[in-house]
Amino acid sequence: MTDLVDSFSRRINYMRISVTDHCDLRCLYCTDRLYPHLSHDDILRYEEIHRIVLAAAGLGVKKLRLTGGEALIRLNLRWLVEMLANTEGIDEVSLTTNGTQLARYADELKAAGLSRVNVSLDSLKPDRFERITGSDRFKEVLEGIEAAKKAGLNPVKINMVVLKDVNDDEVLDFARKTLSDDWHVRFIEHMPFVNGNGANGMVSIRNIMSSIEQSLGQLSPHLPTSGNGPARYYKLPDASGTLGFIGAVTECFCAECNRFRLTADGHLRPCLLDDDEIDLKEPLRHGADISELERLILKAATRKQQQHHLGENGAPEKRQMRQIGG
Ligand code: SAM
Repeated sequence: MTDLVDSFSRRINYMRISVTDHCDLRCLYCTDRLYPHLSHDDILRYEEIHRIVLAAAGLGVKKLRLTGGEALIRLNLRWLVEMLANTEGIDEVSLTTNGTQLARYADELKAAGLSRVNVSLDSLKPDRFERITGSDRFKEVLEGIEAAKKAGLNPVKINMVVLKDVNDDEVLDFARKTLSDDWHVRFIEHMPFVNGNGANGMVSIRNIMSSIEQSLGQLSPHLPTSGNGPARYYKLPDASGTLGFIGAVTECFCAECNRFRLTADGHLRPCLLDDDEIDLKEPLRHGADISELERLILKAATRKQQQHHLGENGAPEKRQMRQIGG
């Protein structure tokens, strides 16, 4: 087997797959509130995603994460989960979701082979949730989190993007959830994506950690039991849940990057923060076989940048987060 190793000796074994660019929320930092989305014909069919995964798995990709847009608004997502989870070489299929429909689908996704979920939640206050997301479905998200836990999609991780003057006063409330409710919370620095500009700015992980330590006690490092991403994990004294910190802006974790992203319209994106992409959809629809797909995936590996250039060249311009999947 030819392994998927990029020009800087990084092994790519993880692929995030966006199944739609459409979302049922309009988070102010993630997307324009009004946007045109892809037509049905433009997005990859489940069979096409499966073919790409067959090729990627043949090159050593072992973990997959479904995302969007909002993946759970795509019909019969469990079919895709089942196909992917049963693909030789794939060890884990997980999901990132806003949680609005999780209560409805948690059990069937688990039965189809989904391993775990991350739920994005940026406020514990219903009115503020509505301001950030443009939707009043706060209660559904909380129900979704509980349903996912019950279904055994563990650990359920809660992702909070900390936004200056929007929700940064809730950091302690989220951290307390690791004491009171066994939550696994991850704080993420806001990345300056084009058009997802309804946010005033980023709060650094360093500041978030120090405000937690000042009020709730010393954080002790904790080894994650799942995932191999860029988060650093800690625990508060006596907490059953964990706290993760993702310094997406202030900490560069490119040297450990192990992932590719596949957009809903079939473009393979070697780096979240770089607009370079390789189109797999057109070749697929013109009859590319698995070895041709493998060749294109290997080519994408050669185009993976050593490091992102956020800050120097600004943010990616071609797509919003909603169109990439985070
Ligand atoms: N709809 C799903 C969800 O809400 O999790 C998946 C798609 S969403 C684009 C994936 C993740 O990206 C979410 O956790 C979201 O908060 C995060 N995200 C979106 N825009 C971001 C930004 N500008 N900076 C940091 N994280 C961002």
